[in-house]
Amino acid sequence: MFHNVTGMPTETLIRNAYLVLEAQGPQPHSGSGTGWEIDGGWIALQDGRVHSVGTSSEPEPQAQTVIDAEGRLVTPGLVNTHHHMYQNLTRAYAPAVNGTLFQWLTELYPRWAVLDEESTYLSTYVAAAELLLGGCTTSSDHMYVHPRPKLIDAQIRAPTEIGFRFMANRGSMTRSVEDGGLPPKEVVQDEETILEDSERLISTYHDPNPGAMVRMSLAPCSMFSVSESIMRATAELAEKHDVRLHTHLAEDKDEDTYALEVYGRRPVEYLEDCGWAHDRTWVAHYIYGSAEENRRLASAGVGATQCPSSNMILAGDTADARALREMGMSVGIGCDGSSSADSADLWAETRGALLLARHSHGPASFSARDALNMSTLGSAANLGWADELGHLRPGACADLVIWESSPLSQAGVLTDRVEGWLRSGPARAQDTFVAGRRLVAGGELQLAGLDDVLSRHRTAAAAMQGVSA
Ligand SMILES: [Zn+2]
Repeated sequence: MFHNVTGMPTETLIRNAYLVLEAQGPQPHSGSGTGWEIDGGWIALQDGRVHSVGTSSEPEPQAQTVIDAEGRLVTPGLVNTHHHMYQNLTRAYAPAVNGTLFQWLTELYPRWAVLDEESTYLSTYVAAAELLLGGCTTSSDHMYVHPRPKLIDAQIRAPTEIGFRFMANRGSMTRSVEDGGLPPKEVVQDEETILEDSERLISTYHDPNPGAMVRMSLAPCSMFSVSESIMRATAELAEKHDVRLHTHLAEDKDEDTYALEVYGRRPVEYLEDCGWAHDRTWVAHYIYGSAEENRRLASAGVGATQCPSSNMILAGDTADARALREMGMSVGIGCDGSSSADSADLWAETRGALLLARHSHGPASFSARDALNMSTLGSAANLGWADELGHLRPGACADLVIWESSPLSQAGVLTDRVEGWLRSGPARAQDTFVAGRRLVAGGELQLAGLDDVLSRHRTAAAAMQGVSA
């Protein structure tokens, strides 16, 4: 009989599963995953960690709770590395749906200016719940609109209550329409306020310890909306407190022209000059870097997040994930703000990454395992957290998904479970575990407060959009 070190049964045993313990990554360049799968295996969870794994012929440990996965696919929890959760208060907002990125932003900024603690908390709660159903167990969130103080404090309450792993990105904007930026004056802040609040949030919430449930990072919004001095000061603050750095970079074609006119440099040169070109940094989108700039950022250790649905629905280009990964860059996946992608489903984004890469590079260029590697290990690396997230090696955080096996969409999938999972969807989480806690069970969220939150979210969203609830 197999026991853990205390001699007690493990808390949870998931047996009879098709286990993807680590999704195979690009070879041989990145080293981000050699791949480890077990057909008919088991995995034991204890104290929020993966305790042990084994094949069907290896003895299973005793456990307090035994779940028969009935042959279903089990993967590491997906990790979301770019989002603006508050935007689910203005999803599919009719006056903005057909705008360009800048038209869309200009239309919505005044709506977002009414954000308060209640609506920030509610939108984060809804986003986390929605992400859990799509198999996501850790998310970052780039909160850059600050019409009122302490919105990130309100935000962090939601994942803490739920038990969802969270990296809050303390976003910032300093340049309003009065200074040639896009946002209205009410949602930007002065540099001193931003830096003081950043330090306060790090000292209050950032947990650098293994198994942390909340970490902070610092995230000026983009070169369009912050000053060069806040970019530099933020990089220094991040180094001082050993937290990560995030921003939007090279999302729009106009950024090259803007950067040359305003800063006299290309966007990547600007990032480098501001002290951001190192492995503390990951950037959202990163579509328009030149081949030489791609090589420079990859060798500096900067990571990038591809946001497939957002890029396509806003009719922009997308990061060349395949090329960037072959250069050794960590490329993760994000759903982006809920008003641009209009959904928060990491399975769908992983499938989007598969489709985009194959559409650009051909059928032999990119597999479902490559895409899964992006949304697990690639994303975990974006967050500087690949030591214990994005894989299920013993000792990793017990963040995993048992995927539902739809009798219709999985009918006929007999020769490749991972390709079948990503090609023949949609796929939903049957069970989602975070830190060993089962937050989705049998396809249902285990959140007692969800109905109340949804009702209050509807009221807040209607008020923001100026319509009746
Ligand atoms: Zn974004």
